[in-house]
Amino acid sequence: MKETILIVEDEMPLVTLLRYNLEREGFAALDAQDGEEALNIAREQKPDLVLLDWMLPLMSGIEVCRQLRRNPQTREIPIVMLTARGEEGDKLRGLDSGADDYVTKPFSPSELIARIRAVLRRAKPIPADEMLRYDNLTMDLASHRVRRDGREVHLGPTEFRLLRYLMLHPGRVFSREQLLDAVWGRDVYV
Ligand code: CA
Repeated sequence: MKETILIVEDEMPLVTLLRYNLEREGFAALDAQDGEEALNIAREQKPDLVLLDWMLPLMSGIEVCRQLRRNPQTREIPIVMLTARGEEGDKLRGLDSGADDYVTKPFSPSELIARIRAVLRRAKPIPADEMLRYDNLTMDLASHRVRRDGREVHLGPTEFRLLRYLMLHPGRVFSREQLLDAVWGRDVYV
């Protein structure tokens, strides 16, 4: 099945160019000319990735990005932002808008496609049995990655094992000895 990219851009020649390049690379393309339309299409069509221009009429790309992240229906959709050279890119870097990557205009189509593929690869869903979830925390047991609100949390190996144990038994209370046995091992003195 083809992966679908939602292009959010108000300059029609650029939409045509992006669509042409995406379709040539085997993607399906949808497009929206402003933020409101983009949010509607994202909710209804669930694209695999949103390619989002910073400069949009009415609602900025950053605001669209925040709203996509706020809505549980669209929260997981990866976002690649398009920015103009210079200032916007720097601002975006500092803003932590929730975009997965950003590409500066003017860009080469092949570079853009490569970035899109990389983001899609990272976003591939992980089998349920390799993923623990609790509230806003997710723990990927295969890659040992922990995320809180989508943001990576760095843990040492012991911290990781401790959190995994607690996440495997949500709502349960353990004594110090039980945790030491389960996480550190029986023969360890702490
Ligand atoms: Ca634009």
